[in-house]
Amino acid sequence: MTDTHRILSLIDEIHNTLIWMKTSGCRGFEKRPPCATNSADTDETPETLPLSRPPLLNSPDDTPAMSLYPQDSIDAIQRDIANCQRCKLAKTRTNIVLGDGAPSAQLMFIGEAPGFDEDQQGKPFVGRAGQLLTRIIQAMGLTRDQVYIGNVIKCRPPGNRNPEPDEISACAPFLNRQIAVIQPEFICALGTFAAQTLLHTTTPISKLRGQFHDHDGIQLMPTFHPSYLLRNPEKKREVWEDIKLLMNAMGLEWPPLSK
Ligand code: SF4
Repeated sequence: MTDTHRILSLIDEIHNTLIWMKTSGCRGFEKRPPCATNSADTDETPETLPLSRPPLLNSPDDTPAMSLYPQDSIDAIQRDIANCQRCKLAKTRTNIVLGDGAPSAQLMFIGEAPGFDEDQQGKPFVGRAGQLLTRIIQAMGLTRDQVYIGNVIKCRPPGNRNPEPDEISACAPFLNRQIAVIQPEFICALGTFAAQTLLHTTTPISKLRGQFHDHDGIQLMPTFHPSYLLRNPEKKREVWEDIKLLMNAMGLEWPPLSK
């Protein structure tokens, strides 16, 4: 991690800590002499200092984020991410693609990163792969407005290359905050990269799919990415098996009732 990333990560941590302190009832800071470090010399109270600080949200051992930032919102994340320069993808992107859909969706689809069309339009899954995802959602008896669609990385890697570790690390706080705000009951991880990143594993998607995994108390179903399906249509049967498991867990009818 470079010095710039360390500083940006520290700023994120301070920002998250201040949000937590505010939501814990803290209304300001004590002004005290610089040498008053002995606990007997201080008068810490819940009004001025939190009893403990919240954990960082980007390591595999983090506790669920749900209750830590109750006043966060998708709009606040949108404001914070505007003109983000936290990683080198800022230099080559056209638009930041945060996500789209219901801010309290029961189901969240998470892919890898924006492609060409998404970068141009600033919306997730709007190209050919996005149209296939839309058909999958409709086949579940839902609309795109009823779910939330996002990506692990919010800016397009040049030439659609795989995101690099420093980019994943720099962008992780935004996805963590999205999940904490939306509080989905289910996540469908689309493709190898999203599934492996969210589950902190290197196990291939072919072995991860077909069963639920735990993601901080959220049931996560990995399946193949729609763009992979476009290249390998024979894999559609396995995706439908995963989607049926998801629908069953969500209490949705299969086949969906016609409206
Ligand atoms: S990929 Fe994420 S961290 Fe990097 S510039 Fe875009 S929004 Fe910022």
